[in-house]
Amino acid sequence: MGAAKYIFVTGGVTSSLGKGIISASLAKLLQARGLSVTIQKFDPYINVDPGTLNPYEHGECYVTTDGAETDLDLGHYERFLNIETTQANNVTTGRIYYDVISKEREGTYLGKTVQVVPHITDEIKNRFFRLGETGKYDVVITEIGGCIGDIESLPFVEAVRQAKWDLGEDNCAVIHLTLVPYLKAAGELKTKPTQHSVKQLLEAGVQPDILVCRTEHSLPLEIRKKLALFCNVKMNRIIESIDADTIYDVPLLMRKEKLDERIIEKLSLPYESEPKLDLWKDFLGRLKNPTDEVKISLVGKYVELHDAYKSIVESFIHAGAENEVKVKINWVSSEAVTPENVEQKLADSDGILVAPGFGERGLEGKIVAVNFARENKIPFFGICLGMQCAVMEFARNVLGMDGASSTEMDSDTKYPVIDLMEDQKNLKQMGGTMRLGAYPCEVKEGTLAHQLYQADLVSERHRHRYEFNNKYLEDMEAAGMVASGINPGTGLVEIVEIPEHPFFIGTQFHPELRSTVINPQPVFVGFIKAALDYHRSK
Ligand code: GLN
Repeated sequence: MGAAKYIFVTGGVTSSLGKGIISASLAKLLQARGLSVTIQKFDPYINVDPGTLNPYEHGECYVTTDGAETDLDLGHYERFLNIETTQANNVTTGRIYYDVISKEREGTYLGKTVQVVPHITDEIKNRFFRLGETGKYDVVITEIGGCIGDIESLPFVEAVRQAKWDLGEDNCAVIHLTLVPYLKAAGELKTKPTQHSVKQLLEAGVQPDILVCRTEHSLPLEIRKKLALFCNVKMNRIIESIDADTIYDVPLLMRKEKLDERIIEKLSLPYESEPKLDLWKDFLGRLKNPTDEVKISLVGKYVELHDAYKSIVESFIHAGAENEVKVKINWVSSEAVTPENVEQKLADSDGILVAPGFGERGLEGKIVAVNFARENKIPFFGICLGMQCAVMEFARNVLGMDGASSTEMDSDTKYPVIDLMEDQKNLKQMGGTMRLGAYPCEVKEGTLAHQLYQADLVSERHRHRYEFNNKYLEDMEAAGMVASGINPGTGLVEIVEIPEHPFFIGTQFHPELRSTVINPQPVFVGFIKAALDYHRSK
């Protein structure tokens, strides 16, 4: 394979236009033409990774197999492309500075004044090229987070300008994603914000090759002409990105607008004639023609911001399509759930998912929700803290261990059924020190987990500090909660279930981080199937 070609995706006018989805869609189209593609995201904030950010600020923290805590856009990349990303696929300003400052302390730049240009921009460029230099990829797409014009993204834009110069015209393309707003009162689409945004890019020395324009209405010819003329972009490189019903339509919409062809021309890429999208289209067919609907209550602490549970929501979409059923999510704030109102809050649920989370707030509501699902035999799925809550609930209400808890929430509990592992006890540093990334899990034969996975050994991703306390395992199992998944190296409990219940499972790991369009995650598929059975039996 020759040297990789590079595509940079910048955004203008406003944030949240969906750079991640456009990048993933373009990557999908190129991959479907036989090219090997990866995507990386560069984020302009100072946190070394998003692991220390509140989900309310930034949405979910996506964890890769190699244990990197990353931006949620990496989840889209994996779900669209069915590939694994790594730490190298997500770089923040904080990480760049951290590395440059460490080198300065080591004396790497001895005698020199260390500056944004060239030291920071050189470090950014090194990172731009790192994945391409592995020789594994034909194309590396780099999404630049934030918005053109932000003070903090300036070094990234300067690095893009230099990278463009270093790579040469044939090896590099810049796509600028902008908004073409529709003014209802005037009945018109407006190009001015895009013109201004491209001007800002030009001031930084970057001429975009392709404009992708987010719009609520189709772009008429005269608007395309105007954008082409005032932004120095060829007419056929003005790409319309109209609002879609689902993000999974976007690759096909981009195909219709020929975004992939324009990139292939620009970069002189070898390709197979038509993108092979059969499996993708099959998935869309199932997604859009559900035979039934199930209502899943998602009980969590951050429900006001749905992005905090992005991968769970997408896993439901994949699992729903697999079962040809629409999954309707009933968002339930765990803080608001009490024994008195639980029935009303979770009324008509065909399944109850208790979400991951940290800290004491909302804990008791989650435990009440588990109890409701267990006693009423409603399909239940607990993830990470959700699984821990299932253990606490069982200990309290079945084994009579009053006040059983996790030492994360109650350090003095008489029954620490969830506790810190030894190697977590003396940690002082918070960033990047949880149990992170993929670990193996042995699945016991004859259990629900085994039936779902159809495998003896699986690998799933983790992000937590606390663990099932094995001191209580014997009592739990004797009373009917079984550990069906165990880490073979450490003996840590990774999956619990209640065989007497039609579908009750809790996973210490995060199965939602493994679900893709082509490979929906088996526990989610089974949960939705159980919810459908329950729904139909009512
Ligand atoms: N707070 C729990 C722990 O650290 C669960 C974490 C999670 O749900 N991701 O173990």
